[in-house]
Amino acid sequence: ATGMPVEHRSTRSTCCYCGVGCGVVIHSERDARGRESITAVEGDPDHPANAGRLCSKGLALADSARSLHGRVLRPELRTHRDQPRRPVDWGLALDTVADRLSRIVERHGPDAVAFYLSGQLLTEDYYVFNKLAKGLLRTNNIDTNSRLCMSSAVTGYRLAFGADGPPTCYDDLDHAKTVLFAGSNAAYAHPVLFRRLEDAKARDPGVRWIVVDPRRTDTAAMADLHLAIQPGTDVALLNGMLHHLVWEGLLDQDFIDAHTTGFAGLKALLRDYTPRMSAEICGVPAQDLVTAAEWFGRSPAALSLYCMGLNQSAHGTDKNLALIHLHLATRQLGRPGAGPFSLTGQPNAMGGREVGGMATMLAAHREIGDAAHRAEVETLWRLAPGTLSPTPGLAAVDLFEALHGGKVKAVWIACTNPAHSMPDIGRVREALQRAEYVIVQEAFAGTDTVPFADALLPAATWGEKDGTVTNSERRISRVRAAVAPPGQARPDWWIAREVARRIEARLATPGAAPLFEADAPEPIFDEHRALTVGRDLDIGGLDYARLERDGPQQWPFRAGHATGEARRYADGLFATPDARARFHVTPYKPVAEQTSARFPLRLLTGRLRDQWHGMSRTGRVPQLFAHSPEPGLRMHPDDAARRGLAAGTLVRIASKRGELVLPLELSDEVGSGTVFAAMHWSGQHLSSGGINEVSLPSVDARSRQPELKHAAVRVERAEFG
Ligand code: SF4
Repeated sequence: ATGMPVEHRSTRSTCCYCGVGCGVVIHSERDARGRESITAVEGDPDHPANAGRLCSKGLALADSARSLHGRVLRPELRTHRDQPRRPVDWGLALDTVADRLSRIVERHGPDAVAFYLSGQLLTEDYYVFNKLAKGLLRTNNIDTNSRLCMSSAVTGYRLAFGADGPPTCYDDLDHAKTVLFAGSNAAYAHPVLFRRLEDAKARDPGVRWIVVDPRRTDTAAMADLHLAIQPGTDVALLNGMLHHLVWEGLLDQDFIDAHTTGFAGLKALLRDYTPRMSAEICGVPAQDLVTAAEWFGRSPAALSLYCMGLNQSAHGTDKNLALIHLHLATRQLGRPGAGPFSLTGQPNAMGGREVGGMATMLAAHREIGDAAHRAEVETLWRLAPGTLSPTPGLAAVDLFEALHGGKVKAVWIACTNPAHSMPDIGRVREALQRAEYVIVQEAFAGTDTVPFADALLPAATWGEKDGTVTNSERRISRVRAAVAPPGQARPDWWIAREVARRIEARLATPGAAPLFEADAPEPIFDEHRALTVGRDLDIGGLDYARLERDGPQQWPFRAGHATGEARRYADGLFATPDARARFHVTPYKPVAEQTSARFPLRLLTGRLRDQWHGMSRTGRVPQLFAHSPEPGLRMHPDDAARRGLAAGTLVRIASKRGELVLPLELSDEVGSGTVFAAMHWSGQHLSSGGINEVSLPSVDARSRQPELKHAAVRVERAEFG
């Protein structure tokens, strides 16, 4: 019987969803016709991130991978916008993309081209794209959807410690005595870590949880103290807590004197942030603020877990800094259970940072604006001196704005769905419509961005490709293919490299070394690690053979060392030129968009428990809809009663930028005056493009991260006809 399985295989890999980076074992089989399929996925008991545990999304991985329905299976091109795309072979697709990009660069210069990537790409994919953009085309216009989730964490770490990356590790979850969740609904967004925290709390009833969140999330519902602050007032709260610690003498003054600079300036600012004043700004009882400060300051080990609630803000950098200040001032870092710990949303947002796959960075945490850093990369990439552009590229929001204005002519989008996930998506759709050329590299045909593609390139996806990812605790894990990609789908690094080689041949600088010789993930990883040697994230001692033999490892992992580093800055020496950490002056600033008579409600956004991003993958699994079957807008019952609205009523949510219609849900998880909608539902499910029809493109001046968490809106009964 030809359909009977003839070969079963087990493949170790890593979950493709959140930044916890759980290890999985993929079970697959091949039948007599050679057809391969994934049959089951279970947690890898040997992976240090999860020790065999998986959340609902991870448990459904096999179901999401089983069907080829809706997959992009062949390259497609169109010559005119008003024509449909037609299937073509890879040779023509690659030649055409290389030709269109080359011609645009020849006509308008390198910065007329831009790349928009994803924290779901593997490190090796990111590396090749980054080299193509910066090394070959000579543009720094390469950014990523990670800009939308963690770039304020990057600027926070760099400004405070002198280098990107958390100083902490997952082991700290077991040792923390006070856990401060700030803008993190870990119960939904990082479930396996949350279970670990629950276990630690069950073992030691003395462990206290403080949750700072305007919404009573499932995480907040389990807190010992929930500070339901007004949206965007985090800096006032954190400054107020530090004021109390100063007042009570709960600082580590010796550490401040010996290992930091800038505290005097911050201390002067803190005079204005008495607990009473701060609590008034935040809309919480002053006593609760004082209790939080006491629990933090007197704790033997205080750990802060923070996420989009701090990062997705027009003042995200200051929010990150104000939190890190608490840890520096009390020396709550560098020992088990203590430290500031940003949780990355995506599975490989960290890896993208490491290879420098962002508009504002170079490989291995180097600076674009630093001539010595550019020269180092030029040497390692065997480029002529002066090849790399010293001008930072366009970060996500600026990139699509430049596409809208015509400064950028072509965009190559890989593994992400900006027509759903960017703020103010009406404007992003217009930008894509106006672009001269749009390349979309995708595994799933139903995303809101695919209709804009002039060239659609079929990408292999999870379970079908090899490489590495780095999770939230700086741990690098292998991702392995269990089955071959379907149809003509190819790994992302392969597609980028094939186009790069064609452009390289066309440019043909006599005597120039070929840039894209690596023809598999392993030699690409080796190139990447060579660039890290001597840097803070040095992985000179870590190669595929080591990962195969010893399993996932943390960076830094220097040559000659037997392991990576679990905790950084334990010796009080930081990555700044004088080895001292930096305090900054962080005044509270209100949200970018104030409510008004026309738009009187504050809209908050966030995740559902069982869905991931735009649902391209989780939306394929019926059981993942059981927890939240329908899209909806959550409103406090008092606000609904005032408007004469009942549960289930279709309401129109409008901001200055756009509108959408959702059914109303009544919930007291939000306070009066605020409403909440999940980010997942998109044009695949709604008549509109989702909640980003109304969100705000205001960005943090330093991180360029947009304020996706808050907008001023109006809600009214939807009238039809
Ligand atoms: Fe995957 Fe994150 Fe769930 Fe782990 S916690 S199984 S990495 S979604």
